Amino acid sequence: MSEEYKSINLFLAKNMSKEIIIIGSGVAGLASAIRLSCNGYSVRIFESNTYVGGKISEINENGYRFDTGPSLFTMPNLIDELVKIGYKNPNKKFDYKKIDVACSYFFEDGIILNAYSEKKRFIAEVTNKLDIDSKVISKYLNYVSFLFNSTNHIFIKKSLHKLSTYLSIDTLFSFFKIPFLSIFKSMNETNTQRLKNKKLIKIFNRYATYNGSNPFVAPGILNVISHLEFNEGVFLPNKGMRSIVNCLYEICLKNGVIFELGSKVDKIDIQDNIAKGIYSNKKYYSADIIISNIDIHYVYNHLLNKPHYLSSHSKNNRSTSAIIFYWGIKKTFKKLSLHNILFAKDYENEFNEIKNSSNVQSDPTVYINITSKHIVTDAPKNSENWFVMINVSHNKGQNWELLLQNARKKIIKKINSFLNTDIEKFIEYEDYMDPTSIEFKTGAFQGSLYGSSSNDRMSAFLRHPNFINKIKNLYFCGGTVHPGGGIPLALNSAKIVANEIISNEKK
Ligand SMILES: Cc1cc2nc3c(=O)[nH]c(=O)nc-3n(C[C@H](O)[C@H](O)[C@H](O)COP(=O)(O)OP(=O)(O)OC[C@H]3O[C@@H](n4cnc5c(N)ncnc54)[C@H](O)[C@@H]3O)c2cc1C
Repeated sequence: MSEEYKSINLFLAKNMSKEIIIIGSGVAGLASAIRLSCNGYSVRIFESNTYVGGKISEINENGYRFDTGPSLFTMPNLIDELVKIGYKNPNKKFDYKKIDVACSYFFEDGIILNAYSEKKRFIAEVTNKLDIDSKVISKYLNYVSFLFNSTNHIFIKKSLHKLSTYLSIDTLFSFFKIPFLSIFKSMNETNTQRLKNKKLIKIFNRYATYNGSNPFVAPGILNVISHLEFNEGVFLPNKGMRSIVNCLYEICLKNGVIFELGSKVDKIDIQDNIAKGIYSNKKYYSADIIISNIDIHYVYNHLLNKPHYLSSHSKNNRSTSAIIFYWGIKKTFKKLSLHNILFAKDYENEFNEIKNSSNVQSDPTVYINITSKHIVTDAPKNSENWFVMINVSHNKGQNWELLLQNARKKIIKKINSFLNTDIEKFIEYEDYMDPTSIEFKTGAFQGSLYGSSSNDRMSAFLRHPNFINKIKNLYFCGGTVHPGGGIPLALNSAKIVANEIISNEKK
């Protein structure tokens, strides 16, 4: 019996409850499928690529393996939870480890600061190298932890668009804390006031980029992001970021989820304001419930043909995109860790240039990720797999061919000066992505990595909800809707959607 035939039979056999179609097999689509298939729903995923995982993809070439999208892994408990739900077997585990040095920060004056995962060690590093009182940094880490504990249950775990969220005691307590959540100051203003030291301010301002925002305008409450790294830790899957997707995909298959790969969805069928099915490859598929895991812009502009439903916030506030080079380097660099940042001299100017300029910023902050530091099979002997990224504006029609050449020159100049090397000599394999290829490969509107930015004080409330009242039986998960971009938030969106569907069923 062919694999395809087996799948169809499984779909029919498992048709105990409602049939759900998920559009897109990003991490949130896979997570929704696990949660719902384990609750008796029949789930079928339509994916336009011939592979699953969306932004979490990889390149395997010339003995090098590169994760092409996300490189930072926090909150592994969210994957553990899916493994537990999916396998119902305590022996099944997702393999990952905690990393000693969360990130190495390189500054213009030659100082290298290691952000150790262990809090005491990080505080010692900061006090030794930056000559500041340990109380400043330990108080700051307590403050970001306070931000997390005050907001996590509302902003991350629940829908902000349901009355029930606001009627809970937890939410009420959080409202009393609003004056202390730095909502009315920017991240930079809050960090300047609390940290005082310019290098530390730069380090903590950088967390705005984790959802494609600008720390000089984004609200101080976003300092919550650093809590995950400094108070909970940075992790690395033992087989790289791509293994997150492989693990979730296996669980889906085990639970009878059907995958229609290479099947782009062209239209969602709405009748009397109820989602009824989808069109793909000129065929119609009906379903009781449809979940979209694709960029919200694409849904309204193409699948629903209702661009006017999109809020002006979603339309106008794009998160940043990136230029990334994947370099096979035939040399090893002892100074570098898994995650490395070579900072721009003037960080504020860099963000202004990203916003205003159609060119690459004059002095970009360079991020280098090297998984072969921990996964030796990711590069040949005495070599390293470098993922080298700078933030750039989303695609507004710039000449990306030219910008790529400019970016490459500026990145190489910076690496040479910070690491005292001639890096071009050691590049033996090269590939790249820019905002246009990110959009082409993952469907991210204008190449924005995280949907809309959080540069607005109200952005948490303005992000697209996980459902809309105007259309019944249509739900949204993934990095472009509530609660936000990045793997942990996308996984939470899947949880919110699945819980909502299951609880509606019980009503
Ligand atoms: C370069 C880069 C670096 C990043 N770094 C980090 C990081 O370090 N840490 C972190 O947590 N996050 C990071 N992110 C963000 C993170 O990758 C995403 O937020 C996360 O993967 C969420 O994905 P998703 O569930 O929204 O689905 P996506 O990964 O966006 O997948 C959507 C899927 O839908 C498919 N699709 C689109 N249109 C259709 C259609 N019409 N029909 C059928 N299928 C369709 C696409 O092919 C794709 O597979 C990064 C992203 C990028 C691109």
